[in-house]
Amino acid sequence: MDNLIDLALQSRLSRICNNGRSIADEEPFFVADLGQVVRQHRRWKSALPHVHPFYAVKCNPDPTLLKLLCELGTGFDCASIAELQSVLSLDVDPSRIVFANPCKTASSLVFARRVGVTHTTFDNLDELDTIKAYHPDAQLVLRIFASDSDALIEFGDKFGASTESTPLLLARARELDLNVTGVSFHVGTGAINPSAFIRAIQTARAVFHQAENHGFQMTVLDIGGGFQDSNFEDIATSVQKTLREVFPPHVRVIAEPGRYYARSAYTLACKVISRRRQIGDPRRTDTQPDMLYQNDGVYGSFMNVIMEKETVRPSLVASLLPSHCLPGGATCRRQPGERRYSIWGPTCDGLDCVVRDTVLESEVKVGDWLKYKNMGGKQTSILSILQVNSRND
Ligand SMILES: *Cc1c(COP(=O)(O)O)cnc(C)c1O
Repeated sequence: MDNLIDLALQSRLSRICNNGRSIADEEPFFVADLGQVVRQHRRWKSALPHVHPFYAVKCNPDPTLLKLLCELGTGFDCASIAELQSVLSLDVDPSRIVFANPCKTASSLVFARRVGVTHTTFDNLDELDTIKAYHPDAQLVLRIFASDSDALIEFGDKFGASTESTPLLLARARELDLNVTGVSFHVGTGAINPSAFIRAIQTARAVFHQAENHGFQMTVLDIGGGFQDSNFEDIATSVQKTLREVFPPHVRVIAEPGRYYARSAYTLACKVISRRRQIGDPRRTDTQPDMLYQNDGVYGSFMNVIMEKETVRPSLVASLLPSHCLPGGATCRRQPGERRYSIWGPTCDGLDCVVRDTVLESEVKVGDWLKYKNMGGKQTSILSILQVNSRND
């Protein structure tokens, strides 16, 4: 798989060189491996065969990814009109969409109602009033508080009804003659502890009972996102076991994985646009690594470095570039052996640091390209995306 990605990178870079120096040639770009998405989907189906995934579009709304997931048969978790539109434009049936934002605008509810998206979440009294006014026939999913305190990002503070508030919310929904049909939660992105899922599933079961006592027919449990590669099977085992123990089999269980599907499928390529070698001051030369400046940073594709304290590790794209591609006709010959570098983004902002101290396999020169794997998790920038497909590897 890595070979295929490297080939795509090389072929793009060799074209850039032949075409001279246009602005587009200096842009970072992604390589998306669709085969990796297919493998993650197979892995999901084998570990969680009874849990239907609704991909969280906000994680990475690349239309090619959405189309592939649509073909694979997943549902979609949308949080805005724009996300609803991009999924609906693929001819996805509205029943395959959950509008999983517990705090929606009036216009987005009007839109959802018009296009036939009926499943939506809520977690507070005011939202019930908004829903009553703009989408009174919606099928409501009560989002409850859940949290893995060791997760990469907790959602607990922003969303989720407390255990104390769920009876009041259900009573109010009844009063407004609204239709509650399920419970959802999200333990946080990059969840680590199976116990967070176990606890949340148990709480959800208790809320099912409360809702049934209010006369609601409860049919859906939504166990949210937070799944990551490193412990997916462990979490899946606990989830399956707990579901079997506490939920009757007729309840439909869905989930909202985001990163799980998108993260590992995308590799980002960035160009080194400048370099500062530590010269002159012996105090710096001895302690500070040389500095590389590249064409993408924390205000673009590396937002996670700041927002989620994610550490990234680039590697040098093994250069096939002829020497005339480097500035001043510099030779491609580089000093061999590992080198430490700090890597900075293209803005003049001092915060725009991608990596403080990392080791690369050899000297890096201006005009070189660096590749970063696992960059599909929080795609905010609109960069070009090359596609490869390692499905048959
Ligand atoms: C972001 C989000 C997800 C996806 O989270 P991951 O950690 O990427 O799996 C799922 N559901 C909701 C409601 C979200 O906001």
